[in-house]
Amino acid sequence: MSEVPVKQPSSSRARGHGGERVSSDEGPAEAQIDGGEGAGWIIEQTGFEQNQEAVSESLYALSNGTLGVRGRMEERQEGDPACFLAGVYERTPIHYHERHPGFAATTDTRIPVADGLRLSLFVDGEDVSRGEIVAFKRRLDLKRGTVWRRTQWRLPAGRLIEVTAERVVPFGCSAVAAVRLGVKALNFSGLLTVVSAIAANQRAEGQGNDPRIGAALAGGGLRTEATAIEGGLPALSQCTRRSGIRVVCVQAHGLGTALRSEGVVVTANGLEEMLVGPLRCREPVGFEKFVAYAYGDLGEDAHMLVERARTHARAAADVGVTGLMARQAGELSGFWRDAEVAFDGDPRIAQALRFNLFHLYQAVSRTPEHSVAAKGLSGEGYEGHYFWDTEAFVFPAVLLTAPALARHMLEYRHRTLDAARAHARELNFPKGALFAWRTISGAECSAHYPSGSAQFHINAAVAFAVRLYDRATGDEDFLWDEGAEIIFETARIWAQLGHFNQRRDGRFCIDGVTGPDEYTVIVDNNYYTNKMAQMHLRYAVELAERFSAVDPVRFARLKIRIGLEAAEVDLWSRAAKAMYLPLDERLGINPQDDTFLDKEPWDFAATPADQFPLLLHFHPLSLYRRQVCKQADVVLAMVLAGEDVPLKVKRRNFEYYEPLTTHDSTLSMSTFSILAGEIGRLDRARAYFEKTLFTDLGDLHGNASHGVHMAAMAGSWLALAWGFGGLRCGEDPGFAPVLPPGCGGYSFSIVWRGSRLKVTVSSAATEYLVTNGPDLGIRHRGARILLNNGQVHRVPSTESVTAEPEIA
Ligand code: BGC
Repeated sequence: MSEVPVKQPSSSRARGHGGERVSSDEGPAEAQIDGGEGAGWIIEQTGFEQNQEAVSESLYALSNGTLGVRGRMEERQEGDPACFLAGVYERTPIHYHERHPGFAATTDTRIPVADGLRLSLFVDGEDVSRGEIVAFKRRLDLKRGTVWRRTQWRLPAGRLIEVTAERVVPFGCSAVAAVRLGVKALNFSGLLTVVSAIAANQRAEGQGNDPRIGAALAGGGLRTEATAIEGGLPALSQCTRRSGIRVVCVQAHGLGTALRSEGVVVTANGLEEMLVGPLRCREPVGFEKFVAYAYGDLGEDAHMLVERARTHARAAADVGVTGLMARQAGELSGFWRDAEVAFDGDPRIAQALRFNLFHLYQAVSRTPEHSVAAKGLSGEGYEGHYFWDTEAFVFPAVLLTAPALARHMLEYRHRTLDAARAHARELNFPKGALFAWRTISGAECSAHYPSGSAQFHINAAVAFAVRLYDRATGDEDFLWDEGAEIIFETARIWAQLGHFNQRRDGRFCIDGVTGPDEYTVIVDNNYYTNKMAQMHLRYAVELAERFSAVDPVRFARLKIRIGLEAAEVDLWSRAAKAMYLPLDERLGINPQDDTFLDKEPWDFAATPADQFPLLLHFHPLSLYRRQVCKQADVVLAMVLAGEDVPLKVKRRNFEYYEPLTTHDSTLSMSTFSILAGEIGRLDRARAYFEKTLFTDLGDLHGNASHGVHMAAMAGSWLALAWGFGGLRCGEDPGFAPVLPPGCGGYSFSIVWRGSRLKVTVSSAATEYLVTNGPDLGIRHRGARILLNNGQVHRVPSTESVTAEPEIA
């Protein structure tokens, strides 16, 4: 197994643990949300490192779920593309040598859009970005949702210039970004020229040999279609070459008196507006820039798109950067009230948890049109695709901290049900819906079906999310209007995929699938898949029974709409009861699939550390025939659907699969942490927790440059709440807290059915407090407790809080 070191990130670190105050010269004053001094709420980078810049651009990316802007410096000419829109992607044909029926014919790649935040600086005609960076500081303020940075440039003749920039991507449905830029000459006076551009020629990154990045696009990125510099704010219109999407970018400025505009020109690379003014020694010159994007189908009226973007840009400029930042801080204060976390013993930990939660929160779409991609909107990794991790990892963390946003994620799946139906037909299922393994629009984008479409378990992940949403919100409208249709349509796939196998005592077997462990493919009876399918089918039956009891007429209408018959529900019930979930008596574990245990174990001793991740060094066939796991598989089943699995079996599964698991996927560590917490392996729980927590801040997998890892970020919160807090989401939320080694106590909050519950764990007691909303029933180690709003319920610790649980 590869050991990934947990390191204190060198370039980005926690700031202000000592409660130091940020002076105005040092950066922006922090919003006083909880009366704190900003301790633990600032991520700071000091010093510029060229070879770390791509990582920093991901860490300091801002987003609102529609628009993502990487932390690229406005005045630098080099750097990765900076701006992405959730719905702007290119479609390219997939070329196979041997194409078979049903193979995905095309793939979609989210491509960078014109960079509207480009601000090239010239003093007396000299390009500032040609200078050398002599001092650098950058801060992400997690309370305000802004990025501040200061760069000191030394030009060849010794002139020193200081540039400060503060950026915000306001939450809401419009794709707007704003920046306030300040320029100060430190040892000279001269003429400042700012070329404020909408830079069009952004190209998607090529894939090389790393399947985790994107596909190189033949023909480049977006094609510039038109520019409009008359009759309103300057606008650049671009379109994709094959996917039929048009995107418009508009810019506006707030110039004050220091700079004057010399007009807009169209260049080979987009639009440029020249802003000119005197730069006097040590007298800062400041201005604001607002960028708005609008996009739609090529069929939409192009003029309407331009006007929409202009309206958004004007509205942002009217509010101004200060106003936009105040609104941003206001919205975030609500989020942090619901999502607060604390962790004694190491101040980096609460800081990193907040950093991860912030990235999650900003990545979630504010509309049902999109969901959360594997890297959010922070980079090109995984081409902007949505996978199963959106529902299995990201969704629970979002649901329990920001439930209103979580609904959009499920609505997105509902909107793509027709595409999932079409995908099911491609794979020869006459009925039902199969979600694509990786997608943007809903269509399958995976060209490698063994580790793509064969992962049927994505349907169960979506069902898991709907069930969790049902339990945590009680939102019946959603279930009637959208949720049930998702559940029933996707449940139908199991009924067609599996069969009652007379050679296995009539058990329901599911053959020819791939589980989460992508180092083992196309197997029979993947334990995770069978277990999750059982959960899915049981829930489908429960929902059908509930609906027919609550409103038989409405249910009858739904059944007619999707052609659902009583015999199908009966079949689901029988399949769930008879699901084949074997236990290997000799080892006391659940075999990952029918043949996994027969395979030769991977020779870890003979695999040097630089050969990990294995997927970058070995032909897949070398992996497929060995016992080696890319990520948690059976162990994940223990966490997501392990209610009825004895602790003894969970522990044996953990011990068996741990040494075989490389954690080459960043999804894996959090799952091991959670199960380790449950079985009392608290040392392991803590170690895995830190590894998932610092995946991006510490760049532990060496690819944060492609964007931050949403599932690992969500996983760190799950490791806290589900792992240490022992949270399991049954009809009520249940807790079984443990204290990890080296931690004096911790707290986290969840939102459940409109109540905000704060859970505080120390060596002395666990305290539950409903801080908002109705009284709430919970379970503590199985015992039911009714919590009244405002009254702390204290459960003194017993030995069992820290001791390892008894295992027979
Ligand atoms: C994992 C998949 C995951 C994908 C996107 C892969 O490395 O193996 O399970 O869906 O990354 O996060």
